[in-house]
Amino acid sequence: MEADVVVVGMGPGGEQVAEDLAEGGLEVIGIEAELVGGECPYWGCVPTKVMVRAADLLAEGRRIPGVAGSSVVTPDWDPVARRIRGEVTDSWDDAAAVARFAGKGGHLVRGRARVTGPGSVEVAGESVTARKALVLATGQRAWIPPIFAAVPHWTNRDAVAAEEVPESLLVVGGGAVGLEIGQVMARFGAAVTIVELGERLAGPEEPEASALITEVLRSEGVEVRTGAVIERVEPWGETGASVLLEGGEVLTAERLLVATGRRSDLAGLGVGALGLDEQARSVPVDGRMRVAPGVWAVGDITGHGAFTHVAVFQARLCVADILGRALPEADYRAVPRVTFTDPEIGSVGLTEAQARAEGGDVTVLGLPLSGSTRGWIAQAEGLVKLVVREGVLVGATSMGPSGGEILGLLTLAVHARVPLSTMRSMIFAYPTFHRVVDSALWSPPSSASKMAGA
Ligand SMILES: Cc1cc2nc3c(=O)[nH]c(=O)nc-3n(C[C@H](O)[C@H](O)[C@H](O)COP(=O)(O)OP(=O)(O)OC[C@H]3O[C@@H](n4cnc5c(N)ncnc54)[C@H](O)[C@@H]3O)c2cc1C
Repeated sequence: MEADVVVVGMGPGGEQVAEDLAEGGLEVIGIEAELVGGECPYWGCVPTKVMVRAADLLAEGRRIPGVAGSSVVTPDWDPVARRIRGEVTDSWDDAAAVARFAGKGGHLVRGRARVTGPGSVEVAGESVTARKALVLATGQRAWIPPIFAAVPHWTNRDAVAAEEVPESLLVVGGGAVGLEIGQVMARFGAAVTIVELGERLAGPEEPEASALITEVLRSEGVEVRTGAVIERVEPWGETGASVLLEGGEVLTAERLLVATGRRSDLAGLGVGALGLDEQARSVPVDGRMRVAPGVWAVGDITGHGAFTHVAVFQARLCVADILGRALPEADYRAVPRVTFTDPEIGSVGLTEAQARAEGGDVTVLGLPLSGSTRGWIAQAEGLVKLVVREGVLVGATSMGPSGGEILGLLTLAVHARVPLSTMRSMIFAYPTFHRVVDSALWSPPSSASKMAGA
């Protein structure tokens, strides 16, 4: 087989590249080992946000007493499982995505490809040659530390496909995946314990965000263990696991969710044939997504942020480069990150610690969300923290019911290097959640200490 372009991996990044180039008139072969669409629509972003939406509704219902009457909230997982199976994943069937790609003129090959040289791969015993471009977009998979390999465990895929909520769930890993699924399951009635090796949940985020999400989860009945070293894991009951922590505590649960991060399988992909290190965590790319002459890579595999919006952003640059169109090179200064807990943790750019480590004149401004009228009205937990260097916003965290939405304006400011003086001259609608940014901009630096954990 031969084509102008061969795309390996048809997740959000690869699919975008393949569709755009096919639409642009090139002959494109897309190779996919599982489902066209990748992790995001079938086991990641979309189904987990359907779960989060349902769990948020339960939480809102439970907030009625004392504010708007009384409520009895009876969780039912059936509609969630049905919606994920039916509306979201079409029972994990990618026929619609396959038809869309074919409709744009692309040719799909099913199978797991292995790179054999700069413009060639092998799939299902056949050799496939790229005349113009080989694009690697094979993403990442859940990484299971060896200690869990021999015990029954869930990954995000099992949690998304669950037909029932377990009575108890032990979540290992206090990052975005563990926190989102843990809170959802707790709100649906599971007894949830989150075990995190690091000193705090949401480790890469600001300490104030970690402190607040820990406080909120505990107030909802979730058990949290941080700085927790797991010494032994054994099967427990028919489906569960028993975990021994350093110090002697034993935790048992009907289900164990391993959410300890995600890794690319570069050895399986055979990137050694391109002269690359197969033990590395990612494939190095330049600002146009080039790996080597005739080879590009996009998405999680590049290590520039495991987010669908990064994969799609990179796909745009990759397509432009292959078609010989000029676009500014990739700039990752303002990659937005959202953990869809309630409250959402939105963040962009540098944390305070990162900014201070880089040096310069760093100032921090911040307020709890209750410091804004809307936050106070909604009795909502949250905060905003602004990291300013030499008078320019270089990082921000917005936590709250719409933390991810408020992040939009902060992302623009970090991306466009907007001086604080310009932000202060802007008019923010009253009383919106995002107006907390205005309050923070005008607050004395000392008010940052009123944020959770500060
Ligand atoms: C639980 C969860 C929730 C998430 N929520 C969000 C969110 O809210 N927002 C967000 O932005 N991101 C979210 N993400 C991350 C997001 O899903 C990924 O960043 C995104 O899917 C990456 O796209 P990709 O194209 O790089 O790779 P993937 O989506 O991983 O797709 C890669 C594809 O390549 C295929 N493949 C792999 N190896 C080969 C091979 N050798 N040959 C052929 N095919 C191969 C795979 O089968 C897969 O279909 C979430 C992830 C998880 C796990």
